[in-house]
Amino acid sequence: MTQDRAEALAAIAAQVKTCTKCDLYKGTTNAVPGAGNIYTDIMFIGEGPGFNEDKQGLPFVGRSGDYLNYLLNLIDLNRDQVFITNVVKHRPPDNRDPLPDEMIACKGYLDDQIELINPSVIATLGRFSMARYFPGAKISQIHGQPKYDDEKGRAYYPLFHPAAVLRNPGLRRDMEADIKRLLEVVEKVKTMRSSEAAPPKPKDDDKPSGPPKQLSLF
Ligand code: SF4
Repeated sequence: MTQDRAEALAAIAAQVKTCTKCDLYKGTTNAVPGAGNIYTDIMFIGEGPGFNEDKQGLPFVGRSGDYLNYLLNLIDLNRDQVFITNVVKHRPPDNRDPLPDEMIACKGYLDDQIELINPSVIATLGRFSMARYFPGAKISQIHGQPKYDDEKGRAYYPLFHPAAVLRNPGLRRDMEADIKRLLEVVEKVKTMRSSEAAPPKPKDDDKPSGPPKQLSLF
């Protein structure tokens, strides 16, 4: 299974690198499928690669990446402990927002990455990944408020995009307070998952009635 997951994610990355399902690949240097720990509890999803990401083929490098590293360090984590990817895997020209048809074209890759990694918490960075789980919501109103999905055993945790915080330092306090609650959300989901995995408690009907009978020796 361990090998299967690594192989399956490598196969997705290979498909992304040769993908022409939308026009975003045109004029890019590298695809950016995602990077990090494929056995993690925490997956970060941003919007799309920028200039530095396109050059290096890695998500969240450059100033936004430095700030994301700083945020991870605040909770004693580093990049090797989380997985980071984006809604679209090729850089939109001039860093424009990804278009709806581009996000639809790219959706299958992200869906498959999520299914394979099966993170306890998906932390969305910015509006476009947030919209997958909180349609119609405003990031300014819901940041830092987890949504729990009991059926999937997962939480969705909306965060500002690091680049937005760098552009607007007034968001910094909220962003850092939100990230500091991330591990609490992870713990809550782990408890949720382990209680679901535990064998069911006997129902009252299954319990023997009256005092336990003494075993006969004969
Ligand atoms: S952005 Fe996604 S769908 Fe579009 S070409 Fe790149 S990998 Fe394919």
